[in-house]
Amino acid sequence: MKVLVCISHVPDTTAKINFTNDNKEFDKNGVQFVINPYDEFGLTRAIWIKEKQGGTVSVLNVGRAETEPTLRKALAIGADEAIRIDADPTDAFFVASQIAAVIKEGGYDLVIAGRESIDYNGGQVPGMVAAMLKWPFVNACVGMELDGDTASLIREIDGGKEKLSVQLPVVIGGQKGLVEEKDLRIPNMRGIMSARTKPLHVKEAVEANRQTTVGIYEKPAPKGDVKMIDAENMGELVRLLHEEAKVI
Ligand SMILES: Cc1cc2nc3c(=O)[nH]c(=O)nc-3n(C[C@H](O)[C@H](O)[C@H](O)COP(=O)(O)OP(=O)(O)OC[C@H]3O[C@@H](n4cnc5c(N)ncnc54)[C@H](O)[C@@H]3O)c2cc1C
Repeated sequence: MKVLVCISHVPDTTAKINFTNDNKEFDKNGVQFVINPYDEFGLTRAIWIKEKQGGTVSVLNVGRAETEPTLRKALAIGADEAIRIDADPTDAFFVASQIAAVIKEGGYDLVIAGRESIDYNGGQVPGMVAAMLKWPFVNACVGMELDGDTASLIREIDGGKEKLSVQLPVVIGGQKGLVEEKDLRIPNMRGIMSARTKPLHVKEAVEANRQTTVGIYEKPAPKGDVKMIDAENMGELVRLLHEEAKVI
């Protein structure tokens, strides 16, 4: 089983988000980057597949050299090789075109991506990859079992779950449930040392045009001051909600 896990390099969830260049670009200054959490669930599930039935796990990122520590972390967690497409990930179509090109060459049976990347939150890349390859795509997967060339998948739907099966090869968008948080692996010293010698291939981007251009980013308005109202003073609370907050 050859599994490819797509890894998005994203700001840590606790990072303070700011923009630069007249709010046209995300300001990376002082920001700590991590493996996109949805991708980490997928990576751990891929390693379980390898441990149970053999095969290889490759990880892939479309990004500049600054993303290599993130890929090395994936290697330290247990991936066998990493691939970095050396290009700015300028939009979902461009990123998906790069990933699809790697898959066409690589002969993968299963491609695991995250349901969305927690930075730009497009939720578009894996669906586009599947469309480019004419492969099936199942998003929001919370469970997966493999039996030969059939994948039995469970996906989250509004208010419930859907169980379905699909023939490999397939692209899935994964999330928590593929494995649980307690199952995520913290790289140990042996993993960190072996990650240094595992292959990290850097490839040129294939020709592909971006299809969207961001005009401007806008942060939510800062929260207003909190007014404390005495618990006994219900009339004042009603007056403020009516006259100031204008919600009743
Ligand atoms: C310099 C710069 C300029 C940008 N300008 C624009 C712009 O003009 N217009 C615009 O739309 N966006 C822009 N972006 C955002 C960038 O295009 C997004 O990162 C990209 O579209 C992926 O979309 P997403 O993060 O929403 O992915 P999603 O579709 O939400 O990601 C889902 C999954 O796809 C995989 N994936 C996503 N990105 C990657 C990646 N880079 N490598 C490997 N796997 C990945 C991961 O498994 C991820 O969990 C810019 C980003 C940068 C760094």
